Amino acid sequence: MVKPIVNITADSGIPLIGSVGFGLIDRGTNVVQVRPTSICPLSCIFCSTDAGPKSLRRAVEYTVELEYLIEGFRKLVEFKNCKHIEAHIDTVGDPLTYLKLPELCQALRETSNVETVSLQTHGFLLTEELVDDLEAAGLTRINLSIDSLNPDKAKMLSGTENYDVDRIVEMAKYITQSKIDLLIAPVWVPGINDDDIERIIQLALEIKAGKHAPPLGIQKMLTHKHGRKPKGVKPMSWKVFYGKLRSLENVYKVKLILSPEDFGIHKCRELPTIFRKFEKVWIEVVGLGLFKREKLGVARGRVLTIVDIDEAPVGSKIRVRVLRVKNNIYMARFEP
Ligand code: SF4
Repeated sequence: MVKPIVNITADSGIPLIGSVGFGLIDRGTNVVQVRPTSICPLSCIFCSTDAGPKSLRRAVEYTVELEYLIEGFRKLVEFKNCKHIEAHIDTVGDPLTYLKLPELCQALRETSNVETVSLQTHGFLLTEELVDDLEAAGLTRINLSIDSLNPDKAKMLSGTENYDVDRIVEMAKYITQSKIDLLIAPVWVPGINDDDIERIIQLALEIKAGKHAPPLGIQKMLTHKHGRKPKGVKPMSWKVFYGKLRSLENVYKVKLILSPEDFGIHKCRELPTIFRKFEKVWIEVVGLGLFKREKLGVARGRVLTIVDIDEAPVGSKIRVRVLRVKNNIYMARFEP
């Protein structure tokens, strides 16, 4: 079902810090997560954020005005005051749905102290022209998720009838011919694409992914209360997952267990937390949250997600109890 799209602009009065659905996330390292959109064209059966046209739990989608996002990003980078910043565009949807993606990449890259601009995508909307534009804009790396090389299985995993994995592989090869680095990042869905993972490793090595970064970043399937989980699939424990990666490393002589150092990630000044956990706060309701029964609220220059709430008109002031404050991502519950 098509969801309404909320455009987060400078005039909206909605801050860019505090939500996982849009804006900016600072986890106290040199990586700043940039989330310009929550929209996704796919409906992967394992999607931990229940994105895409088949989403049952989302209420709205967000896009962020380019200038507003850049202004917020630059202020944050200035505050962090650290070198080698990586702007990582990693949405709860797919960044390729953002209409001004090349312009965004270029502006991020032109920000002082920014060394790397990377993005995470399933590549459904990639075209040669878009790769050329992203290359010209200075994009450093694409983390491209390919979850199976078998066309039927890939379609099934993506939850999308017109998903064509052969075309995505062609795009992966095209990226390796550009200045953009390529990291292939399959999601390992146990019991469904176990055999495919080896073939994807072989592909990454064959097409010479990873000029500077590692060629592969295999992801463990994660579950979330709002996410989708394929029937009968039990997520691997971290121990089992790393054990399997270790065996594959021995077979293919390639690094698969990655650490922050592989990406030059290091600690760096973090924005102070504005609320205390369990604190009661008055907030102004400014719109709908990403998922049903959620609202967005604003207080002290941050946006909060208010959970388990039905009635709360935009503009009303309500009192909430703050439940989560980590990394300046704020969740709260209505507390009359
Ligand atoms: S896993 Fe990624 S590409 Fe797939 S539906 Fe979720 S957000 Fe979209």
